[in-house]
Amino acid sequence: IERTLILVKPDGVRRGLTGEILRRVEAKGYTLAAVELQHATPDQLATHYAEHEGKPFYAPLVEFMLSGPTLAVIAEGQGVIAGFRSLAGATDPTAAAPGTIRGDMARDWGLKVQQNLVHGSDSPESAEREIAIWFPGR
Ligand code: ATP
Repeated sequence: IERTLILVKPDGVRRGLTGEILRRVEAKGYTLAAVELQHATPDQLATHYAEHEGKPFYAPLVEFMLSGPTLAVIAEGQGVIAGFRSLAGATDPTAAAPGTIRGDMARDWGLKVQQNLVHGSDSPESAEREIAIWFPGR
């Protein structure tokens, strides 16, 4: 069965949107296999965001991800990787379509990093890599 790593980022936790976001995942028919509130460590984030190292938004992104707890989730179901990215909407919340998590609940705050509420793995390989970072042994 396909699985993906979802993160409700610190903006989503701070704004009290974890329930609404998980509700949408469950309403779509996906199963929650693990849910844990975590305060990310610098090491964890360096691994998770290794592909972005050196980009202008990298340091603000890590700082933002360290600014409060993140809800880490493993969700399962046929097609869940693409399906959750579709639920999440475009990375830029201004461009994200209404009906998506980012389109409905995120906006541009004029900061150096997109505070776009959620992360979802983008391929089976990244899902397994990211699950190992947030849920070692799962
Ligand atoms: P995610 O991986 O978080 O689901 P994504 O795959 O749509 O989002 P990535 O390209 O992996 O986006 O970027 C990771 C995160 O870095 C984004 O979710 C956003 O918070 C931030 N980010 C990406 N691109 C930019 C940018 N051009 N300016 C500011 N922040 C950015």
